[in-house]
Order: sequence, then structure tokens, then C-alpha cells
Amino acid sequence: MSVNSLRGLLIDLDGTMYHGGIMIPGADELIAELRRLEIGFLFVTNNSSATPEAFAERLNTMGIPAAPREVCTSAQGAAAYIAERLPGARVYVVGEHGLRAALAEAGLQLVEDEPDIVVQGIDRQFTYEKLAKAVGHIRAGAGFILTNPDLLVPAEHGLMPGAGSIGAMLKAASGAEPTVIGKPSAILMNFALNRLRLNASETWMIGDNPATDIAAAHAVGCPSALVLTGLATGDNYKELLASAGCEATAVIDNLFALKQFIGERLASSRQSR
Ligand SMILES: [Mg+2]
Repeated sequence: MSVNSLRGLLIDLDGTMYHGGIMIPGADELIAELRRLEIGFLFVTNNSSATPEAFAERLNTMGIPAAPREVCTSAQGAAAYIAERLPGARVYVVGEHGLRAALAEAGLQLVEDEPDIVVQGIDRQFTYEKLAKAVGHIRAGAGFILTNPDLLVPAEHGLMPGAGSIGAMLKAASGAEPTVIGKPSAILMNFALNRLRLNASETWMIGDNPATDIAAAHAVGCPSALVLTGLATGDNYKELLASAGCEATAVIDNLFALKQFIGERLASSRQSR
């Protein structure tokens, strides 16, 4: 087997497939090519606010045909992580619809009082009351799970505070360290790899953020392609990789070049089998 053969892909969404509501050029062609070549893939997002159905709808609206089963969110990763360890657990949620829906779907009980676990994601209706409740529960012994550590996330008008910034408040007040689910954690990556039924070594992580996407690939042993379509650019990517403390297997300018790269990799890995 050749080094870094290619059988599947994990693909970041924001900054990789789209910016805000706008498709990044070539994303539709890339996904169509993966389907034509029958390469398994999942969209993997740290964003816990929406359901896979809503992400698929967003992609469809932009001209990228996608199904909910092709989307893997940090909310689903968190729900599976809890359900596996503590089936039917009582969970106090700081988060939005996507997180609540994923937890309920995994058979967990959403409660206000006496939870086993506090799960926190991005919550654009976050209040002091929610902070106080979450901290009280954690201090009383509840587990603490953070969907994703992103301090800032891209929004329509620049960067906005992400789940990690709310998490920093919960951490400071409770004195507890959360279990982090989303990239760069291995937890979401392993959840996605299990869903794809592929090994890390033959599944490439594609993303625009060295600190999350490329570091996550590194954490589980996936090869990775950093695309210069979002956060990372030709000017800053070396610096971003250095501060993330990891290297990408490949750095690729845009999604047209990525499509070509995948075709070449696939040809050489199919040949060498
Ligand atoms: Mg991204």
C-alpha cells in the first residue's frame, strides 16, 4: 500500500465549502466528482447550533447537493459520546436547537435540575442565569462537556464569540476542565471515521483552519489537506500551522486544485493496490 492512500474524506464546512451563505468556487464540482468517483465523505463541522437537516438544506440552497446523513456535527458527536457512556443520562444544555435535537435523538433527557452532565455549545441567547445554573450543576458534581473550543467563529459581519468563549466563562467559574468534542479533539474525528467505516490512515481531512482541522487530523492520524479558501491564506498559512504545532500533508490553493489532487491520489492509490 502506498503512503497516504485515499479512500475517504472528512470535509470542513465553514471556510471550506462556503463563506456565510455563499459557496466557495468549485465546491459543487468537487462534491460531484467525489460522488462520481464513489469516494466516501462526510461534512464535519464544529458548529453545534443547527441540525444535519439544516446544514444539508444550506448546502442544497447554495447548489451543493447534500443529504443530512452526510453531515456530522459536534452536537451529534457530543450526544453519541454521552449516550455511549451514560445511556439515558440527565443533561443540562447551554446551546441551540441543533444541540438539543441531537441529545434528544440519542435518548438523553434534557433537564433543568440535577443533571448528570452539563453540555455546552454556542448559545446566542446565553444569559447570566444560564451561566449560574451550569456552574452550579458542575460544582455539584455534574460532568462538563464542551461541543467545540472555537473562541471566535465567522459570521456575516466578521468574527463573533464562539462556544469556546462561553466555555471559558463556565471553566473560570466552575474550576472544571471540560471534555472537548469538536476539532481539534479526536472525539469528533473518531465519531466521523466510525460513521464512514474507514481507517484514519486512508481518510483525508480537508479544512481551512490549521488549529482545528489540521490539528484534528494530526490527533487521529489522518492525512490532511489545508485549503487556502478561508481562514488560512497564502500569506498566513505557515504562521498558522506553526502556531497549531502541526503540518498538513498537503497545502492546496483552491477547490479546483483539490479536485485535481484527489483524482491523482486516487489513481495512484488504486494502482498500488
Ligand atoms: Mg472552517
